[in-house]
Amino acid sequence: MGWAGGNAAFERVARRLIELGADDTTKTEVCSELIDGLQDCGWDTVDESLGEFAGDSAILAAFRRRGFIIVCGDEHPTKPWACEKEKHHTDDHKDDQGRTWPRVTRPIAPDSDSPPGAA
Ligand SMILES: [Zn+2]
Repeated sequence: MGWAGGNAAFERVARRLIELGADDTTKTEVCSELIDGLQDCGWDTVDESLGEFAGDSAILAAFRRRGFIIVCGDEHPTKPWACEKEKHHTDDHKDDQGRTWPRVTRPIAPDSDSPPGAA
């Protein structure tokens, strides 16, 4: 049984916590319990709320605690592999089959007085 109504309930509480200026511990603890409780009621569209709070690290921590992360999504340059690790990870990319490939660190935009391609 699926239940998408959890999104509205979760987002209402999470937004209120943010409005009230709740500290990170409070946001993580309350949201984590809420995710768990709503899942017990059949909430199965948790990932749809995840993106709504991508800018709040304390709420993301609550999702992470319950096993929900915003995935990297980076794709292998030549193979149809997509990275399943959490966004902004700093080690090698890894897909759901355990295949890894190195991250490509993009160079920072060169200074105006540096020729393009200069290290
Ligand atoms: Zn990745």
